[in-house]
Amino acid sequence: MSQPVFRTLDDVIYGTVEQVSPLIRRVIAENPSKFTYRGTGTYIVGHGDVVVIDPGPRLDSHRDALAASLAGERVRAILVTHCHADHSPLAAWLRDETGAPTFAFGPHPRPEPGTEPVEPPDDGVEIEESTDHDFVPTDAVVDGDIVVATSELTMRAVHTPGHTSNHTCWTLAEESALFTGDHVMGWSTTVVSPPDGDMGAYIDSLRRVAARADSMLWPTHGPPRDDGRSYVEALVEHRLERERGVLDAVRSGRGSIPEIVGLLYANVREELHKPAGRSVWAHLAKLVAEGAVVVEDGSVPGLDSVYRAV
Ligand SMILES: [Zn+2]
Repeated sequence: MSQPVFRTLDDVIYGTVEQVSPLIRRVIAENPSKFTYRGTGTYIVGHGDVVVIDPGPRLDSHRDALAASLAGERVRAILVTHCHADHSPLAAWLRDETGAPTFAFGPHPRPEPGTEPVEPPDDGVEIEESTDHDFVPTDAVVDGDIVVATSELTMRAVHTPGHTSNHTCWTLAEESALFTGDHVMGWSTTVVSPPDGDMGAYIDSLRRVAARADSMLWPTHGPPRDDGRSYVEALVEHRLERERGVLDAVRSGRGSIPEIVGLLYANVREELHKPAGRSVWAHLAKLVAEGAVVVEDGSVPGLDSVYRAV
């Protein structure tokens, strides 16, 4: 069984722009955390006429670093992978500054009342930095849309739902590069937390990325990966192994998420059990959708539901 091998990103210097490939520069925001690793990496693609991917968090130092890095450039497009607060908020500022259009799959969806399980108002879990509900793209894209086509740059949307339902990666054809946002991170697995996070969609999206065989993956957090196909295949296998563990636990009579977490995460620090519970919830929702597991009372899979194997 191939386990994903994570890589570190060392020697980060905040507030400066770094040329990381012939067409790609990166500015890292000083917002390191357990979700963002060393911080948000904002990418600037091209020369003269440039594209900015995930302008980043509302942080004065990062805004100033981006402004300095973009001096003398013409921003043609602003691409957003998804609407978490470490990715999209500065898009509004950059659009005001430059007049460039913003491209994304859409705003972060607000669940229709009653159609999705309601997240407990406060279960004490910091699942991710908060959601940027203010971001609405000027141009909504669907999978495959070409958003930039110049003599130097050809960029296209690859819709990759799972981490969030609107998550979108962006390709740069000239370097066979894929900007993967939080869909594939070089240093860690990705948070998949219902109700907007969807494990089934996430694994499908990983398989699509593996099949693309891009030469380089550029995550928002952590180092690039030149072993994209094998790395992403290992990420899929890692999720499926966890899913088998969840299913076996349910089959052995553990019907609640805390019981399953207690079994599968026995060697993991107690403080990580609540986020682990959300991941187990995501796996159970997938197993219910596939008919392998049911919710005892027939309701929508929730954090407090009781589950039974079929
Ligand atoms: Zn995110």
